[in-house]
Amino acid sequence: MSVAENLKKIQSELPESVQLIAVSKKQPNSKLLEAYDSGFKVFGENYVQELCAKAEELPQDIEWHMIGHLQSNKVKYIAPFVKMIHSVDSFKLLKEVNKQAKKNDRVINCLLQMHIAEEDSKTGMTQDELTELLNSPELENLEHIRLCGLMGMSTFTDNQEQVKKEFLSLKNSFDKIKGEYSLPDFTEISMGMSGDWPLAVECGSTMIRVGSAIFGQRLY
Ligand SMILES: *Cc1c(COP(=O)(O)O)cnc(C)c1O
Repeated sequence: MSVAENLKKIQSELPESVQLIAVSKKQPNSKLLEAYDSGFKVFGENYVQELCAKAEELPQDIEWHMIGHLQSNKVKYIAPFVKMIHSVDSFKLLKEVNKQAKKNDRVINCLLQMHIAEEDSKTGMTQDELTELLNSPELENLEHIRLCGLMGMSTFTDNQEQVKKEFLSLKNSFDKIKGEYSLPDFTEISMGMSGDWPLAVECGSTMIRVGSAIFGQRLY
């Protein structure tokens, strides 16, 4: 099936309240343009350099989401245009996003990435780190970031029960934060990829990040 057909199929199966992010890392511009020409404009990228190159080469009205691990010293390159950063995994990084957003006279949407997988390799904050961040008095001074919710990546496994448990733990953390803090913009749960997005939606996802099921295999 073509990129346009894949997109159409996933969107037809997705509740209207759930947003689809097309993960285009390691895909050539031609594939992104196939999606764009079919009317789709929301892309997720993992690497700063690749993201900046694509943003420059492709149409200006594309909405770019940064979903990969982000180093503080690279925030400045994406701050002028990025729509949302899904992968904020430390207070230090959040402060840098605020600083760079301010320089660009913008407010940048941020999701806090939580560690929900079993593997150590998947980055993200623990519940304690998240609580510490949310309790920090400094948070109020960050006027150029908008805390929009949580992001998580499940363990890479065929065990659906395991994945479900992890998705539900993210949903649970989200509900707890909503209950305990006054965060009006905190509305998103970014979870679910090509292999597990229907389960993620079942567990309360509001944004799914789907790559290979749309664009096919990546070029490495
Ligand atoms: C690559 C990636 C995805 C998409 O993965 P697919 O399995 O190709 O759908 C989603 N989220 C993150 C953080 C990724 O790095």
